[in-house]
Amino acid sequence: MHKRIDPAYIIAIGCLSLLFSLRAAAQSATNTPTAAPSAPATTLPYRPSLDVTAMDKSVDPCVDFYQYSCGGWKKANPIPPDRTSWGRYAELYEDNLALLRGILERAAAAKNRDAVDQKIGDLYGSCVDEATVNRRGASPIQPQLQSIAAVKSMRELAPVLANLQLEDFRGELMFGAGSIQDPDNAEMQIANVDQGGLGLPDRDYYTKDDAKSQEIRQRYLQYVQNIFELLGDSPAVAKANAETVMRIEIPLAKTSQTRTERRDPYKLMHKMSPEQLSALMPNFDWKSFWKALNPPAFQTVNVMSPDFMKQLNTSLASESLENWKTYLRFHIANIHADYLSDNFSNEHFQFFQKYLRGAQEQQPRWKRCVQFVDRRLGEALGQAYVRQVFSPELKARALKMVEEIEKAMAVRINQLDWMSPATKQQALVKLHAIRNKIGYPDHWRDYSKVVITANDFAANMRNAIVFESRRELNKIGQPVDHGEWQISPPTVDAYYDPQMNDINFPAGVLQPPLYDAKMDDAPNYGDTGGTIGHELTHAFDDEGSQFDAKGNLKNWWTPDDQKKFEAGTQCVDDQYSQYIAVDDIHLNGKLTLGENVADLGGEILAYLAWQDATRDLKLEPIDGFTPDQRFFIGFAQWDCSNDRPEQLRDWAMTNPHSPGKYRINGVVVNMPEFSSAFSCKAGQPMVSTKVCKVW
Ligand SMILES: [Zn+2]
Repeated sequence: MHKRIDPAYIIAIGCLSLLFSLRAAAQSATNTPTAAPSAPATTLPYRPSLDVTAMDKSVDPCVDFYQYSCGGWKKANPIPPDRTSWGRYAELYEDNLALLRGILERAAAAKNRDAVDQKIGDLYGSCVDEATVNRRGASPIQPQLQSIAAVKSMRELAPVLANLQLEDFRGELMFGAGSIQDPDNAEMQIANVDQGGLGLPDRDYYTKDDAKSQEIRQRYLQYVQNIFELLGDSPAVAKANAETVMRIEIPLAKTSQTRTERRDPYKLMHKMSPEQLSALMPNFDWKSFWKALNPPAFQTVNVMSPDFMKQLNTSLASESLENWKTYLRFHIANIHADYLSDNFSNEHFQFFQKYLRGAQEQQPRWKRCVQFVDRRLGEALGQAYVRQVFSPELKARALKMVEEIEKAMAVRINQLDWMSPATKQQALVKLHAIRNKIGYPDHWRDYSKVVITANDFAANMRNAIVFESRRELNKIGQPVDHGEWQISPPTVDAYYDPQMNDINFPAGVLQPPLYDAKMDDAPNYGDTGGTIGHELTHAFDDEGSQFDAKGNLKNWWTPDDQKKFEAGTQCVDDQYSQYIAVDDIHLNGKLTLGENVADLGGEILAYLAWQDATRDLKLEPIDGFTPDQRFFIGFAQWDCSNDRPEQLRDWAMTNPHSPGKYRINGVVVNMPEFSSAFSCKAGQPMVSTKVCKVW
């Protein structure tokens, strides 16, 4: 429930699940972390899930509960220079990195390693070998650049593109091709193509006309020019080339679906035959594209964004072959910039992390390397991680809490006054069908085919990315593997997947200061219990409710219930649309709706489950706080955070989650249980005059 995911991942071929929402906090996938521990660690440090020193008791909890709970933390924790935001998820994320570093350094140095340690150790070792990476400069992408240079006709372009796309996990090369779960038959995988092709993180960056957006486009042009110069172009040629890239991207951006549109699964579903796709895009040689890509045979392909594909078809005719080759040259360098010499990776950092998101400095190399291993060989690294931090007892306790929250949800569904008995019955069927996946997968992904050597970082990354693209493509026509996870075990995040109808809580998110086995139930239910509730409600929100218990895109609500649900969520939309993200930029109430409703519903469920679990216990105040107060402070402290204004601006456009302050205050204003716990009075800021309640 708490997560924010790198926008780049959303169009990633590796993540072509129709939709999935992480509750994560600001920190994990987004970028890169901090200054915290600078040495490899062998254990995670203990940070309590309820920390009294993180509070600011000079503030009235009924005036600003977030500041009251997190003010001390915010003051003591400025954003580290290499980060764009900093929070409690980030602290754990950093602690994790240090632990993973220890695992990887041992694996890199060990003799007589097993196959798993060889892969993760050598990928890490080749990455931290900065001298070799720098000596190679741009040479690792010369084969790709040469293959582009050799293209002599539009016909020849398609097969070259197919091979390049295998290395492009962001879908930046014109479009993305991979597999998805069939929206109509959640047991099967089908072929899929999707919009992509852009360098900036969202289509809105190209379409908005305010001064800041215009400035961002100018800076992007400069960045693209710099990359061309690094590839050897003269400044004049590089400038002209950058303008070509921008001219190609703007119409693609304008016809791309917005993030809000992509919350509607029906807008993403356009199944057709390969012949129909060829007819939709006659200027692109799909036949030779598929032949080169070589997926398993298929009769049906889903086209998520037909308008985009039509524009791409038009652009293929209106721009010359030379211009397309220029466009591809830039994107190849952009995609690989992080694996090339420092001049490339620094340029990439300067624009995407520093200018666009506000990071002050590049992360130390070891951190970037740990993250590369986690992203590319996550279930290999995850095996060692789980052995160190996630005992069977911890797994059992987490599973028990999940079951408690599910019980509370069943009670709540039965109590809902706006839902008809028929829909309730279906909702309970769906609730009981949810798979609870806790900690790590039952079967580890087999990376034995990925060639990883000790001294060629760029080739290692390419091999790992191509392996993953192939793995996705090879699913076409195959039954769905319900044991599969979309994030690695060390990930500090959690998600619900509507097509799988499962919730996934990796070992990384079940650690202090989030889940704290040493702490009493109150803060644990407030924090992790709320996260579990958050993920569960995603099964029933504006996106998830459109999928049935099996994960098929199939309406099971009566029209009247649907209307009542929408009326309830409109209250939340209106509430959050009033909040300011930064400067004069409001939150997008529609983009953030599903997450805000989940935050509120999750906390209500957690409170119910906690009351039920502790009903027979006589709970005493601790540190001067009643059990109810500890529940809410534990809740608030999950998202103590500081964000740079640049990051807040980017998130207001791209992130379906609200900023920390509103994820806390926006929930408690709607909970009378909170007002009672802190004796707040009507008229105070934390007591809403119009209480929103959906779940
Ligand atoms: Zn969520």
